[in-house]
Amino acid sequence: MCHYAYSLSDQQPRFCFCESITMTSEMPVHVAEAAEKLKEGAETIDLMDFSQGELTQLLKAGLGEPGFRGKQLFQWLFTHMAQEFDEMTNLSKDLRSQLAERARVSPLKFKGAHDSPDGTAKLTFSCEDGAVVETVFIPADGRNTLCISSQVGCAMGCTFCYTAKMGLHRNLSTAEIVDQVVQARRQMGDVNGHIGNIVFMGMGEPLHNVDNVIRAIHILTDDQGLNFSRRRITVSTSGMVPAIKRLGEETDVQLAISLNATTDKTRSEIMPVNDRWNIEALLEALREFPLSNRERITFEYVLIKDVNDTLDDAQRLIELTRGIPSKINLIPFNSHPRTPFETPSEKTIDAFKQYLVDRNVGVYRRRTRGDDEMAACGQLGSPGEKEPAHVRKKLAKFRDESPRP
Ligand code: SF4
Repeated sequence: MCHYAYSLSDQQPRFCFCESITMTSEMPVHVAEAAEKLKEGAETIDLMDFSQGELTQLLKAGLGEPGFRGKQLFQWLFTHMAQEFDEMTNLSKDLRSQLAERARVSPLKFKGAHDSPDGTAKLTFSCEDGAVVETVFIPADGRNTLCISSQVGCAMGCTFCYTAKMGLHRNLSTAEIVDQVVQARRQMGDVNGHIGNIVFMGMGEPLHNVDNVIRAIHILTDDQGLNFSRRRITVSTSGMVPAIKRLGEETDVQLAISLNATTDKTRSEIMPVNDRWNIEALLEALREFPLSNRERITFEYVLIKDVNDTLDDAQRLIELTRGIPSKINLIPFNSHPRTPFETPSEKTIDAFKQYLVDRNVGVYRRRTRGDDEMAACGQLGSPGEKEPAHVRKKLAKFRDESPRP
């Protein structure tokens, strides 16, 4: 075992110069650890955990393979989307059999797709430990979108969100994140056409699993593999300020902020993350977020009846977002079991939107897709009986205080 592995928990140092592995250049800790396992054959390695450069290091350090093997293997995984090592015909038979014994292509098992009449499909996968991962395919004319998960459950406790009721079970690995895209391309791509957009808006707070999400983004955008444009990948966050900064420094994908309230009081009531990083801290991070020409941050605003849907809220929304290149995405609340919240009336939603339009704010309303299959925004996951304590407390408060019809 590489002794640097002990420092993984605090993410320092990022690189390993382990003497037990012959390397000529710096090797990330997770690659060094995997190379040791590959050498020993003691544990199965998930090959989708690694970027092209990392696969090269891994095969060289773990199996003594020449440098070009990493690129070949990467292309088999992500260009050809091979499912078996036997398909990888330009790898030697010996390497294929070693990999078949010590590594695997795909960590997720496809369980099924639940189609909604509007064309949305919720894809369900199981992990080796039995955890269930949900991914949503959203068709649109020539621009299909895949909404992927980054965690099993979520720790953030937003009180309007169905996933929050699960609490956090665990982070998804890089391979489990990337494999959702590979398998969705296999399952949906042939029939429904190209998946053009990726949004990290499924189960979990992506920036609470920022290491694996950033690594997944690097794999998804590699032009030797899945080759997604960085402009077609959006990471949506509830507002984890330090990780927003890191995302801006280490990737150049699009950013969406789940804002959902215009005062700290209301935001803290529905999004506990606001107690840690309030609206001003969040806006400050956004003002510093690197944007290239014509790029804009998306503010997502879930409209909830009697919580955040007044014209005063609309006016404050304009003031808060002023000076930040942005657009506003209004999302009428999707009802689900076990919530005290309701969807505002059409009249209220229209009035809110029109108020923004009349003041030249870039705003659009997201159509509710897939809600009959619980595949819509905030509806993923299978909550157990036990809600996390902080969610129960906030919900109880709302049940007591919310105006009822
Ligand atoms: S809205 Fe997003 S961040 Fe909030 S609890 Fe749900 S999944 Fe987590």
